[in-house]
Amino acid sequence: MKTLFFNSVFDITDKVLKNLDIKCILLDIDNTVRPFGNVNPHNGADEWIRGVEKIGVKVILCSNNFKKNVAPLAKKLNCDYVSFCLKPSPIGFIRGKIKSHTNHKQILVVGDQLFTDILGGKLLLLKTALVEPIDLEAEAKTLKIRRFLLKGLAEKIKKRGSPFL
Ligand SMILES: [Mg+2]
Repeated sequence: MKTLFFNSVFDITDKVLKNLDIKCILLDIDNTVRPFGNVNPHNGADEWIRGVEKIGVKVILCSNNFKKNVAPLAKKLNCDYVSFCLKPSPIGFIRGKIKSHTNHKQILVVGDQLFTDILGGKLLLLKTALVEPIDLEAEAKTLKIRRFLLKGLAEKIKKRGSPFL
């Protein structure tokens, strides 16, 4: 399936998840549910996670960050996590999939970066959704360069959007 695009995780609604038959979201953290470099989740992230859980969707945070960085946020958001994912290598997503006890086809990878989140999901043939980053300004230079290089592809995915909205 082609990568879907949403302006933010908040646009990934119950309706979208039901249409895609999703039971687990492997969710990126930085610039997806919290502004880059911030320790706290984005406003509304907690409520959004509780909402999707209500319809039977498990959320597992999957981050390339170290445990000491990821665990406190997972505690705040009250969800399971996989740290040091090494995205785009599929290792972290495989660990997330095992934790989820979910059928492969019912997993959605969500993140703001094509080179890590989306590529990692694609390598495992998982469903993928790209979201607009929360805050680009605070990002590291290397990430800005990567984003610039992949801008064309990101625009293509954005134009396509999601047929489920
Ligand atoms: Mg990110």
